[in-house]
Amino acid sequence: MKDSARAVIIGGGVVGASVLYHLAKIGWRDVLLLERSELTSGSTWHAAGGMHTFNGEANISRLQKYTIDLYREIEQLSGQSCGLHPNGGLMLAATAGELDSLKLICSRARYLGMETEMISLSEAQGLNPLIDTSHFIGALWRADGGHCDPSGTTHAYVKAAQQLGASVERFTRVLSLTPRPDGSWEVLTDKGTVLAEHVINCAGLWAREVGHMVGIELPVLAMEHHYLITEDLPELAGREREIVNTTDYAGEIYMRQERRGALIGTYEPHGVVWAPVKTPDDFTMQLLPEDFERLAPYFEVGFRHFPALGRVGIRKAVNGPFTFAPDGNPLVGPVRGVRNYWVACAVMAGFSQGGGIGLVLSRWMAENDPGQDILSMDVARFGAFATPKYTSLKVPENYSRRFRLAYPNEELAAARPVRRSPIYERLLEAGAVMGANFGLENALWFAPAGTRAAETPTYRRSEAFPIVRAECQGVRGGVGIYETTNYGKYEVTGRGARAWLDRVFACRIPKPGRLGLAPMLNPAGRIVGDLSIACLAEDRFLIVGSGFAEEFHLRWFWLSAPPADVFVRSAASTLCGVSLAGPRSRELLQRMTRIDLSAQAFRLFQVAETAVGLTPAVLTRAGFTGELGYEIWTTPDYFPTLYDELRESGAGLGLIHFGGRALSSLRLEKAYGSFNKDFRPDYTPGETGLDRYIDFSKPDFAGRAAALAERAAGPRRRFVVMEVADADAEVVGYESIMQDGAAVGYVTSGAYGHCVGKSLAAGYVPAALAREGARFEIDILGEMHAATVRLEPLYDPKGLRLRG
Ligand SMILES: Cc1cc2nc3c(=O)[nH]c(=O)nc-3n(C[C@H](O)[C@H](O)[C@H](O)COP(=O)(O)OP(=O)(O)OC[C@H]3O[C@@H](n4cnc5c(N)ncnc54)[C@H](O)[C@@H]3O)c2cc1C
Repeated sequence: MKDSARAVIIGGGVVGASVLYHLAKIGWRDVLLLERSELTSGSTWHAAGGMHTFNGEANISRLQKYTIDLYREIEQLSGQSCGLHPNGGLMLAATAGELDSLKLICSRARYLGMETEMISLSEAQGLNPLIDTSHFIGALWRADGGHCDPSGTTHAYVKAAQQLGASVERFTRVLSLTPRPDGSWEVLTDKGTVLAEHVINCAGLWAREVGHMVGIELPVLAMEHHYLITEDLPELAGREREIVNTTDYAGEIYMRQERRGALIGTYEPHGVVWAPVKTPDDFTMQLLPEDFERLAPYFEVGFRHFPALGRVGIRKAVNGPFTFAPDGNPLVGPVRGVRNYWVACAVMAGFSQGGGIGLVLSRWMAENDPGQDILSMDVARFGAFATPKYTSLKVPENYSRRFRLAYPNEELAAARPVRRSPIYERLLEAGAVMGANFGLENALWFAPAGTRAAETPTYRRSEAFPIVRAECQGVRGGVGIYETTNYGKYEVTGRGARAWLDRVFACRIPKPGRLGLAPMLNPAGRIVGDLSIACLAEDRFLIVGSGFAEEFHLRWFWLSAPPADVFVRSAASTLCGVSLAGPRSRELLQRMTRIDLSAQAFRLFQVAETAVGLTPAVLTRAGFTGELGYEIWTTPDYFPTLYDELRESGAGLGLIHFGGRALSSLRLEKAYGSFNKDFRPDYTPGETGLDRYIDFSKPDFAGRAAALAERAAGPRRRFVVMEVADADAEVVGYESIMQDGAAVGYVTSGAYGHCVGKSLAAGYVPAALAREGARFEIDILGEMHAATVRLEPLYDPKGLRLRG
């Protein structure tokens, strides 16, 4: 065995094999994969090998397509067959909501370049004669996907990597990992020690244990999973082509042809966690005992929906474990605080996702950038809130919903509440309907007294629509209060703080008493943050950004190596906040503070540390609604007092509560993009319009060269807001934007603009087409709607209300 390597990959399942191949392909030939047993001996060998491009996140769909397309390449390079059956996929809908969801997939697929079509049930039956169509109301067909041979595919990756110079040691168990002062690792195995610059945790069923080796608790857990293989089906005898792999959402069933029989699997509602505390060391190439009694009711649904399957015997049953993260997407990337340690685990669809994970991780390691937006599979989307108990509640929930289509207005119930702000109960009393963001409960909208504080999951307008309208009008017409505790908050202090921030952020760092909008770029010049910086003193800054990106941004700050005289601290649990917005917000706040809030004395983006009633607070004149507004930050112990006093003070002024839904509507009326939805690491300053906040005169900041190059060449595409005609449902995200029958761009977010009376869609179109009044079409739930670009915000285009 080699005694040193540039990178050591722990685990020889399909994911480790793909990472090995991609590292070798990118030029890292001195890489070593260590596998404690035979390759594939964890969860890989018994997988059903299904592969498809379906994922709720468009970027992951794209990587799934990459994975499936890659198999021909590794077959050629290695001479090893992947056992491909590229017979495509069918998705069946039994309810109106499922049908809407299939139509949304179709709309998205056009821009993603995937061949997808809504087809009739009789066409579906032609592709899979085993379907009893009486149970369904619609079907979607997609050309991509099919199934492969799990073992052949893993060996093809490994052989292709070996051809490029990579090494593999089987029957070599990693026992411990010891960091060395230079950031490299001592990898102790049962066959000796290997020195490695980087280690990658691809340990699948043992990813949790390989996390423990470096003191981290990864949110990953295994579930038992059953599938059956039937005896030969007379219905398939003599057919030349295999039936198309079929997913039955209502039945929570997937099925495909296996030789002359069928393979049928289910994601049952009360799934069983496997090895909840520790994965056994001696579990190798093993299956688990079948539990037919528990599974029978669910397979029976399958036998009703595909009756031929119930008429033959079962040839083989498989129950095997595989791992999930709390939201079902993989955990990929570097881990804050652990140098040169990478993860690629919790991969529940290794044959659809393994290739894409290898691609982005190898780029990330070799080029310091995954090369595209992968926020939805970044390990940093989870923070300290994702404890083992949280994971143990969320993973079974996710498993039970594997084939449930997530509605855009749906909030999942498991592990709630985890984090509560000090005014949580008060907001509930005020009718708040809560969502969870980074584990923290936050108000989405407020049910008026006497109405039900709940909402029907739908792709269309829900019962909350008129309520959100009233909240928007209440803000624009008077004053509203919104809790901002769920924003990401960081304190940066110390003598070197300003100089360090100057390098990390692309904007001018504000002077004491001022706040600045602060884009943050990666070295490739793409947006990794759209935050605000408030300068409280020359050596004290309060930074605010998206709550969901808290760990992502903390990791970014850590990777940006603050020097010894800079202290970066998360204020997630030490600062709470509210936003007051609307033309009467000044009047309200002036009742509670002695500083002069008049337009000239306390201008837009002014910052003060002052008392607001009984509360010492940081007060900024800022907000996200486009109205006159303020954000007030204080510590949790004062927060209920602040809230109570604001409410008392606002009582005579018609103060209303508003939630996240209203905020989404108000910000789109002002054409403000939001990090996570509209601004992500795929986009550049010129494309997003955030270039207007960049201080190009600064000699040095992350991403400067790329941003300058883009400024010289001009952006390729632009973020625009469009009015959508005749819509009775709003866009959700990633629908294709069409012109003359071609997909030219895609949607990033949408909302109804209640105060401008229009359905609004935000997204990216080619820069040359981003003109005032340019006309496009957007497919919303199967119907084409005209969409017209509005370059100026639809509400208060001159910003008079904001500055008033
Ligand atoms: C019944 C069933 C059906 C499935 N069907 C499908 C399907 O149709 N399509 C699909 O895409 N996915 C399917 N899956 C999921 C698929 O199996 C996983 O996505 C995939 O196997 C994950 O691969 P991995 O490499 O991450 O993990 P694993 O296969 O678990 O590999 C991890 C490897 O790491 C090694 N290892 C662990 N610790 C150490 C150590 N300390 N030192 C050295 N080596 C170590 C292990 O021995 C193991 O070989 C199915 C799973 C099951 C159980």
